Amino acid sequence: MRQITLSNGTTVEVECLSCAITSGMVEPDGGVVIETEHFHAHQDVAYPIKGLIILASKRHIYGFDELTEEEKMDYINLLTKIRKVQREVLGIEHVYYFYNEDTTHHFHTWMVPRYEWMNDFGRSVESLRPVLHHARNEMNDQENVNEVIKSIRMLIKALREERE
Ligand SMILES: [Zn+2]
Repeated sequence: MRQITLSNGTTVEVECLSCAITSGMVEPDGGVVIETEHFHAHQDVAYPIKGLIILASKRHIYGFDELTEEEKMDYINLLTKIRKVQREVLGIEHVYYFYNEDTTHHFHTWMVPRYEWMNDFGRSVESLRPVLHHARNEMNDQENVNEVIKSIRMLIKALREERE
């Protein structure tokens, strides 16, 4: 078991944070962005960047080669759906995707939007870590967090309308 401190300051003991979130045991701030039989998308508000989404599998797996055919289809469909509303609703022109198999959680893909201000931290992938660090430490003010929550609601609404 591992102790994890959530963004609201409470601590939980879980085996795997991704399992805890995708099973609904831990509710991410801002709620579920979209959920299917195999995947779960949410914003990690520990990094308050508008439109940043984490897409996690519901099964406790680590690698792409562990995905079933059905999960593969679900994954790519969800990823593209989320990408589409990020563009349409939040005007996000570019997104960085990353995913590492040696995670302490399980299979999850980060979708990190690229904004102008991020250029101060480098041009491309090299800026990712400093950008996330900056967001977590310097952008955690209530005003920005409210903006982020508002953008999550917009994404949720747009994704819901897509389905209808
Ligand atoms: Zn897990």
